[in-house]
Amino acid sequence: MSPYIQLFRRYLREQGLPVTPQREAVAQVIFSSSGHLSVEDIESALRGTGARTGKATIYRTVEILVRSGLVEEHDFGEGFKRYEHLFGQTPVHEHLICANCHHVVEFQSPEMVRGLEQMARTHGFVPIRHRLEIYGLCGTCQAQGVLPPDEGLTCPVELLA
Ligand SMILES: [Zn+2]
Ligand SMILES: [Zn+2]
Repeated sequence: MSPYIQLFRRYLREQGLPVTPQREAVAQVIFSSSGHLSVEDIESALRGTGARTGKATIYRTVEILVRSGLVEEHDFGEGFKRYEHLFGQTPVHEHLICANCHHVVEFQSPEMVRGLEQMARTHGFVPIRHRLEIYGLCGTCQAQGVLPPDEGLTCPVELLA
């Protein structure tokens, strides 16, 4: 069992919320994965362990996990959210997201983080955390000749003429 389960239990108790085996099972799935899990992913992982946990419980639990600060919520533009625990092997990392196949690549750049912090300070801002998502086309999709998706209207320069 993940040591983070202890933290989650403590958070539930502090919030006066019931500590249930279902909630712990949902948390355990997220804590033992290094990926970006959707509610569907969590559901099928739970089914694999033989646990019977309804979607409503999963939604409610991930919401609590996000509020506790143990889990981060991502919206990679797929129409649903993905969840990732914040104490993985790569604590501060950014995401490259393929707009075609939704493949997600994680990368770390201490130089860039320093640059972002510096930039925040020039605006008189004390940065606490940040989120960076770069959307584009992954190498596989480019090799298959996929064209960048239509991003809709851009700045209507012709109106300014
Ligand atoms: Zn792709
Ligand atoms: Zn990630």
